[in-house]
Amino acid sequence: MKPTPEELAAHIRELAEEHSITVTYGGTWRTAECWPSDLAITTPEPVDPATYLVALHEIGHLVDVNARAWSRRRGSGALKCEGMAWAWAAANCRFHLTARDWDIAGRCFRSYLHQYAGCDLGQ
Ligand SMILES: [Zn+2]
Repeated sequence: MKPTPEELAAHIRELAEEHSITVTYGGTWRTAECWPSDLAITTPEPVDPATYLVALHEIGHLVDVNARAWSRRRGSGALKCEGMAWAWAAANCRFHLTARDWDIAGRCFRSYLHQYAGCDLGQ
């Protein structure tokens, strides 16, 4: 059964409390961000699986040392950091989501490939 927006938001709230993270809702997955020094994230409101996963991903950047955004470097460092943050999201996702729900991870990763690997996203 698909989780409700309330269930999704409740899990994000729980994780934020557990890890003392300040969550500000707003924007889209493209503008989602994290600030490790402030233990804060900005992420779209978790109203559906995709936005929920983006929030988990941003939290992953703060709580998994291998995904720490401040260790982000050019090229493969940034990609590893992205991959680890998605791995954290997958490990901590509380709901059974579909492959289609996880498409958001591919879209986000793809934008990083474009940015850091310089690949052409033409099609
Ligand atoms: Zn990321």
